[in-house]
Amino acid sequence: MSTMLKGIAASNGIAIAKAYRLIEPDLKVEKQTADNTSEETARFQEALKVSKEELQAIRDKADKDLGPDKAAIFDAHLLVLSDPELISPIEDKIKNEQVNAEFALKETADMFIMMFEQMDNEYMKERAADIRDVTKRVLAHLLGVQIPNPSMISEEVIIIAEDLTPSDTAQLNRTYVKGFTTNIGGRTSHSAIMARSLEIPAVVGTKEATASIQNGDLVIVDGLNGEVHINPTPELVTKYEQMHADYEKQKAEWAKLVNEKTVSADGHHVELAANIGTPGDLESVKSNGGEAVGLYRTEFLYMGRDQLPTEDEQFEAYKAVLEGMEGKPVVVRTLDIGGDKELPYLDLPKEMNPFLGFRAIRLCLEEQGIFRTQLRALLRASSYGNLKIMFPMIATLDEFRQAKAILEEEKQSLIESGVKVAGKIETGIMVEIPSTAVMADTFAKEVDFFSIGTNDLIQYTMAADRMNERVSYLYQPYNPAILRLVKMVIDAAHKEGKWAGMCGEMAGDETAIPLLLGLGLDEFSMSATSILRARSLIRNLSQPEMEELANRVLSMSTADEVVQAVQAAVAK
Ligand code: PEP
Ligand code: MG
Repeated sequence: MSTMLKGIAASNGIAIAKAYRLIEPDLKVEKQTADNTSEETARFQEALKVSKEELQAIRDKADKDLGPDKAAIFDAHLLVLSDPELISPIEDKIKNEQVNAEFALKETADMFIMMFEQMDNEYMKERAADIRDVTKRVLAHLLGVQIPNPSMISEEVIIIAEDLTPSDTAQLNRTYVKGFTTNIGGRTSHSAIMARSLEIPAVVGTKEATASIQNGDLVIVDGLNGEVHINPTPELVTKYEQMHADYEKQKAEWAKLVNEKTVSADGHHVELAANIGTPGDLESVKSNGGEAVGLYRTEFLYMGRDQLPTEDEQFEAYKAVLEGMEGKPVVVRTLDIGGDKELPYLDLPKEMNPFLGFRAIRLCLEEQGIFRTQLRALLRASSYGNLKIMFPMIATLDEFRQAKAILEEEKQSLIESGVKVAGKIETGIMVEIPSTAVMADTFAKEVDFFSIGTNDLIQYTMAADRMNERVSYLYQPYNPAILRLVKMVIDAAHKEGKWAGMCGEMAGDETAIPLLLGLGLDEFSMSATSILRARSLIRNLSQPEMEELANRVLSMSTADEVVQAVQAAVAK
């Protein structure tokens, strides 16, 4: 009998493969008396040996698949496991205190971790992280439990997890990871957004994926309908194979539009841009006919590593994107860390409400060293293409003015030292906080453009955490409250002769697109993999008709009424 879990369709497509549980095991340790300490020491040494062999294999694979930079992390881990300053005290503890190896290892490691973490020295703090990582592996061996090694996956799998952090998702190997499903998360959590750009079908928020799915179970992830089937019948597998083939056929149809402009049936042009996270995403922007990069989420440059990227590293990344886009617009968003995107090495205190906390521009205006380094890298790269700079999470005009003033300072100082900087760099803001949407008319006098960040704008307007599947019904892009805010922003921009784009997930949503076209949105920025479908849709719509529809739905009472009106209008 197959079982079905219902969740949130987070990334389109169908995947069928064996389950791989990416779940942290329970590593709780109890203190026990060791009667035979030499046996205990031998057990510890064996766990150490197996851990080293495992790490060596992971290191070699990382070197081959990801390059020497990533492999170096594991070299550091291997060194920790050979360090007598860590190993000897553990063996002494077993012998002198007659305790079990697990306890001796945990106590000793925790002592070093605490010591290093308290030092005011980045290098030492990194060592603390290394020790935490490697001792987890040795401990797992001692306890006889398995820690997952996603980088060692070498067959097609579907990942099963409680949740995936954005950096977990970034490390998924597309060759083998065919899909994923998680217990928690929403459509606009960053792992869902990344799954869409990686074209990995995903269903999130199933609540019980980890409880219901075992390693090796056959799983179907239906990212179109938000369903997960566990150990399906052969008939169901055949049905899904057919759906998969149909979807691929549909994609082949859309692919014919790759070099076409995006014009509505009556000749109104809009720009279809892509959201990217790394220069590597450009390939997909091109193969999907992206007319611009509407959002470069630069925070991914800062993630999956243990220190801040240098100015030069950033310069290279920005230059690569600008050159790669060959003069087409590239909107680079300055660092938006916080919320579900953490940087452990910044050592920021845990917050009660991270999405309402010390995030994005708030952090950058406070930690100006980090901000200025990024701005200098951007300014230096500006002469290699068509750069536009965008500040995230702007809540007040004062924040925008401060950010802009810092940008100007860095620009002047670079020019004075003889660095070539582009003459005109448009500077805009994300509109993702309701206060800014409401004040859009005032902002429009000072910014060059708006990009509406509906992922956050909806969560803040509806007071519904975008990561929490229990309130995901309040993610309502078609709610007239949201549509009215969107209209205010677009109208305010146009009144001042500025352009308005949207880079939240709503911009690529099939039901929202007709309304946004009607409201006069100039630029739609979405996962590259959604562009061709959006182009195909827009080519069949009439802008004046959609304008009439948009004006009509603004006075409706509920999101459902709006959806019905759109469906009726588009079906005509
Ligand atoms: C948004 O909030 O809509 C947005 C595009 O930014 P992010 O998803 O990175 O918060
Ligand atoms: Mg946002």
